[in-house]
Amino acid sequence: MPKTAKKLAAGAITPGHAGAAARGLAELQRQAAVRRRDAGGDMDAWGKAVEAEQHTAAAFDGMVADTAPGADRNELARRIDAWTAHHDPDVIRDRERRALARRGVVWDAQRDADGLWTMRAQFTDAAKAQVTAAMEPLAAKTSADDDRTLAQRRHDAVVTLCQQACDRGDLPAVASQRPHMLLVTSPDAQAGGPDAQPAWLDGVGPVSSETARLFVCDADTTIVVKDANGKIWDVGRATGDPSTAQRKAVIARDKRCIGCRAPASRCQIHHIVYRSRNGDTVVDNLVLVCWSCHHGIHHLGWRVTRHGPTFTIDRTPTDL
Ligand SMILES: [Zn+2]
Ligand SMILES: [Zn+2]
Repeated sequence: MPKTAKKLAAGAITPGHAGAAARGLAELQRQAAVRRRDAGGDMDAWGKAVEAEQHTAAAFDGMVADTAPGADRNELARRIDAWTAHHDPDVIRDRERRALARRGVVWDAQRDADGLWTMRAQFTDAAKAQVTAAMEPLAAKTSADDDRTLAQRRHDAVVTLCQQACDRGDLPAVASQRPHMLLVTSPDAQAGGPDAQPAWLDGVGPVSSETARLFVCDADTTIVVKDANGKIWDVGRATGDPSTAQRKAVIARDKRCIGCRAPASRCQIHHIVYRSRNGDTVVDNLVLVCWSCHHGIHHLGWRVTRHGPTFTIDRTPTDL
């Protein structure tokens, strides 16, 4: 790439630009090598392939030398992509095939020290577009004072998408049951008693009494309640309790998350007086909250306050 090399030597472009150009050229050469191979013993076809390769390389060099000085590295990479898609579409097609073979999502085997699970995901172009289309609208700020970071909002969006998929009930059944979460808990664990066995979330491990109470509030979860001797007191689903009629009444009254005004489609039901403190499942004791405000209530001690017929969330932390 003599023209690009000249610009690099003169300091008009950076080594970063040159690196992007070298990767682009390598992709074109990889494709050219395939064509030479396909020509086999046909010397005429082979000669044409070599000529076309030289022509493409020269044109590519000219394009990079002209484009790079005015563009940052990402912009140059985009321009190289567009040029390549136009001049040799096979490069893009083959790259997509390699991406398809390497696609995947894996969980790390262990939580980190702060209890976070890491998911490593490699998406194809088409998958990235699909995930983005579903995730980004849900990751928008719910109001001007939504103080979650973009990364936190995307996290909440993905969880909400999964929650909505479980709620719709059209996911394939596992062992003839609808997919759901399983929590093994005890009255002591929910009350957070000092000697209580911790509640256990299937597929994850022990969880705090705060998290146990949050699941009992309203999630599509099978709750197994055992006492200290292992006697099972109750096996129930949170679904159906609150009833559909109660949910509709709460949605009609609150309309949106009472904390951040997120739309009802992203919300769950919270028991103002917790079930573990004998709070009843009656509309007066239920409010509409989104995933992140629900966590704020159970984990950060945010408080639900009533103002006549309406409710708000007071974010001053209190004792849980
Ligand atoms: Zn909210
Ligand atoms: Zn709750």
